[in-house]
Amino acid sequence: MRKITVLGSTGSVGVSTLDVLGQLGGRSAFEVTALTGGNNVDLLAQQARATGARMAVTANGARYQELKSALSGTGIAVAAGRAGILEAAEQDSDLVMAAIVGTAGLEPTLVAARRGADVALANKECLVSAGELFVKAVQQGGGRLLPVDSEHSAILQVLNEDHRDTLERIVITASGGPFRTWTREQMAGVTPTVARMHPTWSMGLKISIGSATMFNKALEVIEAKHLFQVTPEQVEVIVHPQSIIHSMVGYADGSVLAQLGCPDMRTAIGYALAYPKRARLNVERLDLVKLARLDFEPPDEVRFPALRLARLALRRGGQQSAIMNAAEETAFEAFVATRIGFLDMAEIAEAVMDDMQGWPHASCMEDVFICDGEARRRAAALIARIPSPTPRSA
Ligand code: NAD
Ligand code: MG
Repeated sequence: MRKITVLGSTGSVGVSTLDVLGQLGGRSAFEVTALTGGNNVDLLAQQARATGARMAVTANGARYQELKSALSGTGIAVAAGRAGILEAAEQDSDLVMAAIVGTAGLEPTLVAARRGADVALANKECLVSAGELFVKAVQQGGGRLLPVDSEHSAILQVLNEDHRDTLERIVITASGGPFRTWTREQMAGVTPTVARMHPTWSMGLKISIGSATMFNKALEVIEAKHLFQVTPEQVEVIVHPQSIIHSMVGYADGSVLAQLGCPDMRTAIGYALAYPKRARLNVERLDLVKLARLDFEPPDEVRFPALRLARLALRRGGQQSAIMNAAEETAFEAFVATRIGFLDMAEIAEAVMDDMQGWPHASCMEDVFICDGEARRRAAALIARIPSPTPRSA
């Protein structure tokens, strides 16, 4: 029996992960060590009962009693708050699905990596904020690092390590998001409700807004660099609105290998869970005749500055990626609260990056957390200076 922990089980990736575990044999093949969620205590309790999890944890300390009573009589251990999440990550399991959103996912994922669990990594912020330190923690722990992000799963699926010497480039595809054809003037006034309407993928709020700004792709370029140990110049981005090719790898003989499939995270999750084998999954099969065409276009870094910022962060080095991520996360929260406009998000990220250019390198995780906190403080100070937007209809 393989022991699995799902951090962020109530989210978009978490729910899909439990679906895949069910398809791969459920309770006869897996033992669920721990599940963690946030405010959705009803779903968390339901998941814990259905999987027979040993432990269930809500990140919200105020929700402890609610979860406790929902699971009373089941024998499932209950905990809450940050300490509870870390305790869940610490519990002995073979694989941890890291599906908490944002930088909040970094610490628990590190705990899992350090104790040597295989890490199925959906949370890209771990690599963006902590880069080499995170990769080193996984290596020292002795577990495997298995990407769950669909683009990075695609790359893992087509990158043949025997051909590493002739690897030329990695091509990450991007849907272009809901505003792919919009002008900056049009984007300036959009509300969070409109910005989260992703054309091809169904995902959590943060990553949906990140697809609209293309910050998600910015994070993925940095993620690819760390996962596959390539130079920033080797990572290309191409807009592919249908989201059928999930990413590609180009070799020195002119060959380009791609992984294709319908946009469904369960394929990438299944690949990480069954690795190095393949899962048998009940997901929609690709019908290329019905699809008829695949389109491609270059990304526009003027309308979508996020990709330019990722390149800038990689060029500058130091903690610029962590700074970009923390400032963008803070700006995202302000945008969702309708405190700032859509285009302000990239502007705040860039201003904080410029402001913190001299920030020293991170030599330990503590340095990462300090830098992250400082970038958030500076982003919040910039947000406070932006006048509240005039009310507009949704
Ligand atoms: P989501 O918002 O749907 O779910 C997030 C999960 O994290 C929930 O279980 C929530 O309760 C929990 N959570 C939120 N804040 C927390 C906190 N402070 N402490 C502990 N737990 C907390 O997010 P998602 O779309 O499932 O994305 C999860 C991660 O996977 C993100 O890093 C995202 O970038 C990445 N990812 C998602 C997709 C996708 O299709 N949704 C695809 C690729 C990568
Ligand atoms: Mg992705």
